[in-house]
Amino acid sequence: MTKEELEKNVSESYELDSNVVNFRVAEGRLGVYILGQTAETWSDFYVQRVGRSDEDLNERLRQHAREKKYPEFMFMYCGSLKENFDWECFLYHEFDPKLLHNVYHPDRPDGEDWPCPRCTKFD
Ligand SMILES: [Zn+2]
Repeated sequence: MTKEELEKNVSESYELDSNVVNFRVAEGRLGVYILGQTAETWSDFYVQRVGRSDEDLNERLRQHAREKKYPEFMFMYCGSLKENFDWECFLYHEFDPKLLHNVYHPDRPDGEDWPCPRCTKFD
């Protein structure tokens, strides 16, 4: 799990709008997302929030679209609940919890005792 792997697999940034989400993101897939805004002066993305859906990434992103708090999103499908959790933790730490709007550390799915790959929170 590296920044290079993320950059290779994450989508482009798209407008966070329900129609755009439906067009870009398949239903019923699990995955992680990044919400924020493309910076005006350089080709980077200003990350404001990260998250995941263990059931339906499309639905979760459309919820965020209805809240109208973030202008754009990027996403990445994951192949398993474990991979999904590990990637959300990666994003959470990589983009610095102090700068993100996320209030809490990513949670594990019910019944799982996986450690965070980046910190000792669950040790
Ligand atoms: Zn952690």
